[in-house]
Amino acid sequence: MKVCFITYGCKVNQAESQKWDKILRKRGYEVVNEPENADCWIVNTCAVTHKAEIQSRQIINKAKKLRKNAFITGCYVELIRPKSEENINFFVNNEKDNIINYFSYMHKEKDLISFSRHRAIIKIQDGCNQYCSYCIVPYLRGSPKSYEIREILREIQDYESIGIKEIILSGINIGLYGIDFRNHINLNTLLRSILKETKIPRVRLTSIEINYINEEFLEMLSHERICKHLHIPLQHGSDKILKLMNRPYSSKEFIEKIEKILSSYPEISIGTDVIVGFPKETEEDFNKTLKLIEDIDFSYIHVFTYSKRPLTLASQFPDQISEEIKKQRTNILLEIAKSKKLNYIKKFINKELEVIVETQKNSYFTGTSNNYIKCLIKTDNLIKGSLIKFIVEDIDGEHALGRAIKE
Ligand code: SF4
Repeated sequence: MKVCFITYGCKVNQAESQKWDKILRKRGYEVVNEPENADCWIVNTCAVTHKAEIQSRQIINKAKKLRKNAFITGCYVELIRPKSEENINFFVNNEKDNIINYFSYMHKEKDLISFSRHRAIIKIQDGCNQYCSYCIVPYLRGSPKSYEIREILREIQDYESIGIKEIILSGINIGLYGIDFRNHINLNTLLRSILKETKIPRVRLTSIEINYINEEFLEMLSHERICKHLHIPLQHGSDKILKLMNRPYSSKEFIEKIEKILSSYPEISIGTDVIVGFPKETEEDFNKTLKLIEDIDFSYIHVFTYSKRPLTLASQFPDQISEEIKKQRTNILLEIAKSKKLNYIKKFINKELEVIVETQKNSYFTGTSNNYIKCLIKTDNLIKGSLIKFIVEDIDGEHALGRAIKE
């Protein structure tokens, strides 16, 4: 039986789908990439933005139209709560892990020999209780829930045994890791255990809120197996807007912390998220975002145009910004984001990077460096999933272009 995973949204959704993918392969199912070729779809939807909601609605309609046998879950299902019908089963978020129970063993469990990714995403926690005023996620994912360290270690060791070289620790708000445990376990404890109990060559973190970056964390970052890459959401450069957003820091605190990280790790990649057009955002507020972004050496910036989300406080705020102004401001930031990214890659021309080889495109391979630069490797002879040394020679679009170094 052929199964296709269709996954929208955040790294947590990707981690969940990836875990189910691994289980189904072990149970003897064939996982295919093209939905048309599959007997069954497993769809993990998203509702974080208005656009994500439309995309999720469209895929559900497509499943109905094609009369596909489908299991559909995720934040859009949690929000809309549709009723299951003949060939389509819906699962709210806290029931999503039950989907896998509908797939009995095709034969005795086999070892996992094929896996679709070379960098595995692992979910370490779910949920958030920060209630940023623009964010629907706490209403859909609930309060923080962490996975036990031993379960996470087991999952990492499982990936290690099939030769995976990088794991990406993901969660809705990973800084909250352990908050629901009674034994003072936190993200630093988890990282220490991973470094001690596993041999996985690279450990990467997904998005982490600035208030969880402390001295101990910064010290641990010096470990060679922890990727020199942090994604730290800024969201806005104006203190007035940060307060309205219910973000727990000021622009000054944010800048100071980032400067501290950069002074300890000058080549680290720091990416961020910025929201444009939040209610009450004046030209002056927007200029504060621009100024902050100009002043910090971000390696990339994800720009989000604010959209009203149901259930959230900000959707009720007066002084919503017109679509036209939101679009103008978004375009200005997108241009800056593009040049920031190129400037970061330029710093590494003629330098060596450690890269995991991922896919092949004609006479190139693609890969991801330790510091999160997407690389194009000029060769037609590399092993996918291997860890190589790579020298950056030039820039091609948003990629570093170069060659593998033979050791
Ligand atoms: S920290 Fe804020 S933006 Fe992130 S999931 Fe929690 S409420 Fe949403």
